[in-house]
Amino acid sequence: MAKIYYDNDADLNTLKGKRIAILGYGIQGRGHALNLRDSGLDVVVAQRPGGVHYDEAVEDGFQPTSVAEACAQAQIIMVLLQDTLQPEIYRTAILPHLKKGKALAFAHGFNIHFHQIEPPKEIDVFLIAPKGPGALVRQLYQQGGGVPALVAVYQDASGSAKKIALAYAKGIGAARAGVLETTFAEETETDLFGEQAVLCGGAEQLIKAGFETLVEKGYQPEVAYFECLHELKLIVDLVYSKGIQGMWSRVSETARYGGITRGDRIITGETRAEMRRILAEIQNGQFAKEWITECQAGRPVFKALLAQRDRHLIELVGAKLRAMMPWITKQDAQKPTAIQTKAPVKTNSKKVASKR
Ligand code: NDP
Ligand code: MG
Repeated sequence: MAKIYYDNDADLNTLKGKRIAILGYGIQGRGHALNLRDSGLDVVVAQRPGGVHYDEAVEDGFQPTSVAEACAQAQIIMVLLQDTLQPEIYRTAILPHLKKGKALAFAHGFNIHFHQIEPPKEIDVFLIAPKGPGALVRQLYQQGGGVPALVAVYQDASGSAKKIALAYAKGIGAARAGVLETTFAEETETDLFGEQAVLCGGAEQLIKAGFETLVEKGYQPEVAYFECLHELKLIVDLVYSKGIQGMWSRVSETARYGGITRGDRIITGETRAEMRRILAEIQNGQFAKEWITECQAGRPVFKALLAQRDRHLIELVGAKLRAMMPWITKQDAQKPTAIQTKAPVKTNSKKVASKR
């Protein structure tokens, strides 16, 4: 069973007298910085000017500075920059300030696990990865709750890396919900697998396959949209708060019987075999290598695939229907991620193969 830490296992005093640099005031950065400050800790924010995030940091009462300056001032450095930008910024602005006694922290293990960042031995390196978006990290903290997180220690030079990591998790509110002990390898590989096979990639294909099946047979796209996309949220909300059995007990008997007898015809042995292949590509470093190479080339495939998706009927129908339900859009008022628009970066592609 997983080891799970809670508020009582962590001491905020571990971070008293230490300055924490939050590098990047994006989706995660804002949540971490505000929660840590509200927990009484000393936070300096690094955010490049010229975008909405800089203004947001200023509005929130921070005086954003450069990555190099924040790293010079801080003992704990949390890297919340875009994953693909991290290696280059690390080399130029972070590494020169990594003196003995400091700690380098991440919210996702990709760059450490796939050797794009290789920190000096004399510092602590840990991971606090919230299992939820940054807006929720902030919102739940303000409500007295928190988003659960994973904790992992990659290097423990000081002998207190885990203590520091747990105090950090407490500072952002994660220890109220539970902080699960893991490794960089497990966090990175399960995170990539989850987003590819289930959460983002798998869910998109399930929704679209259902939508297209109905539309092909002449059903109205608007009806298909409500059925296969809109209602999915209501089901996922039930699964989230009550578990899968809780969901089954709250849908009609007919839905229960039909779903239970038909669902496994959708996820077949072939689908499971493909899931295992996707996982293997993550474990052997093939996915990381492909993504890094794609970034180096200026992301041509990625951009084309995204643009193609914009033109799908489900987007056109959805935009029209959601415009009539403004409360839905407001509910998740969070800027879209900038993943598609960032410039490619130089990376350490030779060393990408995972450690296993
Ligand atoms: P975002 O893209 O939302 O934020 C990154 C921020 O870094 C932006 O504000 C960006 O500025 C800023 N930045 C980029 N370059 C510089 C620079 N040279 N100097 C100063 N600031 C800079 O990233 P996320 O919050 O999504 O991701 C951060 C980390 O958290 C990643 O490792 C990710 O894997 C991890 N994570 C993310 C989750 C999420 O919910 N999104 C969940 C769990 C982990 P600008 O606006 O100008 O681009
Ligand atoms: Mg993820």
